[in-house]
Amino acid sequence: MTALNTFLSQALQERAANNLLRVRQQVDSPCGVTLQWQGKSLLNFCSNDYLGHANHPLVKKAFVDASETWGVGSGASHLISGHSREHQALEDELAAMLGVEAALVFSTGFMANTGIISALMSAPDAVFEDRLNHASLLDGGLQSGARFSRYAHNDIDALSSKLARVEARHKLIVSDAVFSMDGDIAPLPELLACAEQHDAWLMIDDAHGFGVLGEKGLGAPEHFAIAHKRMPIYMATLGKAIGTFGAFVAGSRELIDYLVQFARPYVYTTAMPAAIAAATRASLSLLQTESWRREKLHELIAHFRRCGEQAGLSLMPSITPIQPLLVGDSEKALRLSAALREKGFWISAIRPPTVPENSARLRITLSAEHRVEQIDALVDALHELLSSET
Ligand code: PMP
Repeated sequence: MTALNTFLSQALQERAANNLLRVRQQVDSPCGVTLQWQGKSLLNFCSNDYLGHANHPLVKKAFVDASETWGVGSGASHLISGHSREHQALEDELAAMLGVEAALVFSTGFMANTGIISALMSAPDAVFEDRLNHASLLDGGLQSGARFSRYAHNDIDALSSKLARVEARHKLIVSDAVFSMDGDIAPLPELLACAEQHDAWLMIDDAHGFGVLGEKGLGAPEHFAIAHKRMPIYMATLGKAIGTFGAFVAGSRELIDYLVQFARPYVYTTAMPAAIAAATRASLSLLQTESWRREKLHELIAHFRRCGEQAGLSLMPSITPIQPLLVGDSEKALRLSAALREKGFWISAIRPPTVPENSARLRITLSAEHRVEQIDALVDALHELLSSET
């Protein structure tokens, strides 16, 4: 074995010994409420396709039609020759629906987050992040070279005292709007007030709120009745409730013009396929024409919580489609996930370092495509498994 391979296999063995090895399971069907896996049909309770748009006939048709027109690959980055009329139309529609000056589409959310933060911040600056922010936000803060610190989860007093203590040219507060592994919502009004009070900029990642929260599905700002144009930097992804791929940032004309120049993951990557942009436009229009999906999703969330609480499940405080069940021990989380699979449910165990030590969990997510009976069956299965564990 080469020294490289010895190093790699030791790292892998250590992960496995701590029950932290991640395994990719191969599925034989598109992402949907039922998944085919090893010849079995499983009920999927862990996808982020919250509205069921990923396999919606109109979204698929837009994708197929646009791929006939535009081909598959975009062929180049946006600044070379990859920026098509479809991309521009998507950005214009996003800006119009959110009531902001401009929007910019990125190839992935991870790239948007690292790109935005490291374009805006550098050594003389300071970045303040919620402790439970998504990895891409944390990486962006670290890569920027700015002074980097994390504050206690959703604790505005802790954030405020950090902001007061630190001297910096510019200060940026960064928070998930809906926390991806917990499902709770950041207090946007308090974050905005805190940013204003300390003369700091605010960036919100609404990956899990956009499409789901608010009457029109416009995300966490709409949930709090805050106009998007009051949010200095609003970012959301397109691969979750929107059911396609990629991400965007929305804000002032100056913000977007600046990012086009300085966000390296924007400048130096191939543009997303134009057909994805077209499919995304079709999906965005469904937010309006099929608002019943959002209504049904929220009814299902309420139903799950009602039944879960009656069954004594230790649910976390969340009104979003992310309804994690805290387990604690990684090995127990893996065991429960495997037992659920035996019973016909697909829910993966989320373990450190994705979540803090000793807080492994089953990250249950709900979709507008689920049926009440399926949710009842899940609650029964969880109740039965957890009762036999104790
Ligand atoms: N932000 C949050 C909060 C996320 O949950 C994710 C996806 N897991 C991302 C950003 C990254 O988005 P993408 O999958 O488009 O890279």
